[in-house]
Amino acid sequence: MEKRVVTDSMIGLELPNIDSWSERVTVVLGQNPGMFTGPGTNTYLVGTSTRPILVDTGEGNDKYMPFLRQAMEERGADGLQEIVLTHAHPDHNGGIDDVLKEYGPLNVTKKPWPEYDGGRELNVIDDEDVVTTEGATLQAVWTPGHAKDHLCYFIPEDNALITGDVVLGAGTTVIPPDGDLYDYIQSLHRLLDFGADTLYPAHGPCIRNAQEKIESYLAHRALREDQILEALKAGIELIPEMVKRIYSDVPEFLHAAAGMSVDAHLRKLLREERVSKKGDRWALT
Ligand SMILES: [Zn+2]
Repeated sequence: MEKRVVTDSMIGLELPNIDSWSERVTVVLGQNPGMFTGPGTNTYLVGTSTRPILVDTGEGNDKYMPFLRQAMEERGADGLQEIVLTHAHPDHNGGIDDVLKEYGPLNVTKKPWPEYDGGRELNVIDDEDVVTTEGATLQAVWTPGHAKDHLCYFIPEDNALITGDVVLGAGTTVIPPDGDLYDYIQSLHRLLDFGADTLYPAHGPCIRNAQEKIESYLAHRALREDQILEALKAGIELIPEMVKRIYSDVPEFLHAAAGMSVDAHLRKLLREERVSKKGDRWALT
């Protein structure tokens, strides 16, 4: 059987600190490279006025602010309209206080997730809400799965989607233990329906073949699901055993992350009543 659909990865990927991906979208790298963040979190200045929107803030480290300042200067901006967030993971919202210190006070706009929002006062938005600025419109698209509060943003002026952590510039998305792969796959279908040309991901390079990329993400998950069903059919009941079989081509230090992915698939199948679980042991129903 074919082993994998998505063959590229974030490992070793490098991107410029500041780059313009359209006349209204400039990306500023969050300066937090790592195993899961790739070259770091992409933060986006969106709009054509002197007060653009900042989408996501990075994790909050000293190296980021000079690049944000430089990007603002290069586009003739002297302030921000507001901060808009994709979701409440720390590599996206950890930099809020630094940005507020430099450019605040500002609205922080996101879909609430009280357990993760740290008590911060939010400008609440939800699915289909619209945030406008000069030269750009952000249409919120609720895309749970990676995170319960996740919003992507459709920018009709670019026929593009800011995809946050739902679709990445390389490799695939992690579905953490509090994520939901069933929801995630619905979210990918929803993004597909926009017919976007371009994706601006939260990690990795700009994606110019948007539909093909989203379809490859769906194919990747479908293949993994088939592999897991095959393993269950062969009587393999434990996740580490499934990982050994399915991820034989992946270095062992990544097996814990792979286990998380298998677990996400099994929870999806459980929700669909196609598998059962007793303790750590899984079986087909
Ligand atoms: Zn995330």
